[in-house]
Amino acid sequence: MVSGIEFYYYFVCKRKLWFYTHGISMEDENEDVKIGKYIEENYYKNSQKNIMINDEINIDLIRNKKIIHEIKKSQSFEEANIWQLKYYIYYLNSYGVDVKEGIIDYPNLRKRVMVTFEKDDKEYIENVINEIKSIKNSEKIPGKIQQIKVCKKCAFYEFCYI
Ligand code: SF4
Repeated sequence: MVSGIEFYYYFVCKRKLWFYTHGISMEDENEDVKIGKYIEENYYKNSQKNIMINDEINIDLIRNKKIIHEIKKSQSFEEANIWQLKYYIYYLNSYGVDVKEGIIDYPNLRKRVMVTFEKDDKEYIENVINEIKSIKNSEKIPGKIQQIKVCKKCAFYEFCYI
């Protein structure tokens, strides 16, 4: 299996995924990550939070046994947010846990997005898992994503551009 953060990075930037899976991590210095951690620690005080499974996926929140929650700061990477949550559902299903829905919470936007696991998602996720594995095993660094607005906010910006 691959981890939730690897799955997320696959949709954000494959180069970032490569750095991360080759032990090059700068996320602790990234302001966005600090803000994300602050949200996680200070909202939803009465819920069961940060459920780590097999050191691979870290579910932010479970409020109802059938619905898992992922807490996000912004909708900038909505596709990545949605697929990361679907991957968690896929992962739990593979262990026999019957979950079909999740919610992405954006507490500072006062918004939530409902995510449903669709019929074709399993096959798509399995293809993505294979692609992530081949990126992890590759010695070649994927190219830059050529989205300077995204790159300027990335912890690896100095690696890529300076
Ligand atoms: S700076 Fe841009 S290209 Fe480099 S890892 Fe980050 S998002 Fe990817």
